[in-house]
Amino acid sequence: MPALWLFTSLVGDMIDSARLNLPDFEPGHVWLVGAGPGDPGLLSLLALHALGNADIVVYDALVDPRILRLALPSAVLDFAGKRGGRPSPSQPDISARLIGLARKGKRVLRLKGGDPCVFGRGGEEALALASAGVPFRIVPGITAGIGGLAYAGIPLTHRNTNSAVTLLTGHDSDGTVPGGLDWPAIARGAPVLVLYMATRHLPNIVERLLSGGRRPEEPVAVISKATTPAQRVVVSTLGEVATASAGVESPSIIVIGEVVRFHTALDWLGALEKNPMLELKSS
Ligand code: SAH
Repeated sequence: MPALWLFTSLVGDMIDSARLNLPDFEPGHVWLVGAGPGDPGLLSLLALHALGNADIVVYDALVDPRILRLALPSAVLDFAGKRGGRPSPSQPDISARLIGLARKGKRVLRLKGGDPCVFGRGGEEALALASAGVPFRIVPGITAGIGGLAYAGIPLTHRNTNSAVTLLTGHDSDGTVPGGLDWPAIARGAPVLVLYMATRHLPNIVERLLSGGRRPEEPVAVISKATTPAQRVVVSTLGEVATASAGVESPSIIVIGEVVRFHTALDWLGALEKNPMLELKSS
């Protein structure tokens, strides 16, 4: 896509001319970068800078294709997720690949959906790089549990509603509900819970939260494909969400708590879609 590449290099020039003092992407270095939840507009300048300089981009399934098109035309795009039903490469394989490429003197961009260190195994890859003596940098991204809520018009925190949030995964490394979690404590711990990877075990999770004291009428939103053109928000209650969200496409983020009620008033994306002229009038 030459036009897109031109865009990247123009933006690259702007970044340089703004003298932001961004670090050079040195050969033999690995950058572990968060690509955000989908919308390319949510990329950081460092992520764009990395895309404009990487020799190879090792990316996961959740990285939006529009973002990959911002890589240099000469860059190798290397998919590290599940391919055509075959299992995804193991974590040690991916780490070994990153180390091998860096040792060949490549500028290696390890691109992950959301933030690399939020349920993204960024820490594991960084540890492998550190113990191999490969220089690396971590560039945070907007995690789905924060960006997705913003795009659904649901504030993560709101005065009088919650002064704490819990982010958790509904899926352990062995594919089951996290057994190591103290669910009654989670249920009591924070007024707002944001769940990643929770669709598959939702009925089980809901049951644990209800027995831990959460109310069945508590509002819940399921935000599917957040920040992409296919974003969908299903609002329900804790008692009914497992049924209400059946058939909602993945990936999805689930948010439980009173902040969900703000969606009705703050669904800015829905409002713009219903009336695209609003966007023009307000600018
Ligand atoms: N590192 C990522 C999370 C990876 S775990 C981050 O910081 O966002 C994968 C889970 O993230 C998915 O199962 C889903 O729960 C959530 N997720 C990632 N992208 C999403 C999106 N665009 N919309 C909704 N949920 C998303």
